[in-house]
Amino acid sequence: MLDSYRHKGMRKKLVDSIRRKGIQDAGVLKALDTIPRHLFLDSSFLEFAYDDKPFPIGSGQTISQPYTVAFQSELLQVKQGQKVLEIGTGSGYQACVLAEMGAKVYSVERQKKLYLKTKEFLKKLPYNVKLFYGDGGKGVPSFAPYDRILITAAAPDIPKALLDQLRTGGFLVVPVGGGDVQTMLRIKKLGNDEFETEEFGAFRFVPMLQNKAND
Ligand code: SAH
Repeated sequence: MLDSYRHKGMRKKLVDSIRRKGIQDAGVLKALDTIPRHLFLDSSFLEFAYDDKPFPIGSGQTISQPYTVAFQSELLQVKQGQKVLEIGTGSGYQACVLAEMGAKVYSVERQKKLYLKTKEFLKKLPYNVKLFYGDGGKGVPSFAPYDRILITAAAPDIPKALLDQLRTGGFLVVPVGGGDVQTMLRIKKLGNDEFETEEFGAFRFVPMLQNKAND
């Protein structure tokens, strides 16, 4: 399946609507305008790919709503060449948005089927994203420290291992909360055990899997 003028037009409309909802970061908007989101969904869902909605991607998981992807990406303030660790690869869409913004992306997925499917799919795209299979709560210590860490599943609390793998001066963006609704937090690491937390409103994410995966 290819990109086409029709898809590009649909994408422009989506980006306009996301801009109207308050996203201003030019790098984020450009990434959403560039990446063909329809390729990340099964072809039968093509008509929905550019609605500002989450969508099922198999294994009981969803590709996040484009506005949420844009919101989290804006909060991260990613700069060219920075190392970003994503927890919850899912479809790989958010990882590609970060790569398009110039980040070196490392992404962890807990569900093997999804990990394998996305690993295969991303070979077709021009983004160099390193994928890992495992519990994102443990991070990926071998490539630490990271300038930015993004959690794209609802975390009941903030995994200590991730705070340890964050560079001083770096940010971690995470939707925190065990119930239906989470609070978006941005945590800045000021020093070894010193953090500053900002809150950015309510969002809904699928839960972060703690121990057992469904595969
Ligand atoms: N970022 C994704 C959407 C995330 S949905 C995208 O752009 O499509 C949340 C994802 O987190 C799901 O794929 C889920 O399987 C994964 N996940 C849940 N718990 C996890 C954990 N402990 N470690 C890594 N990934 C996890």
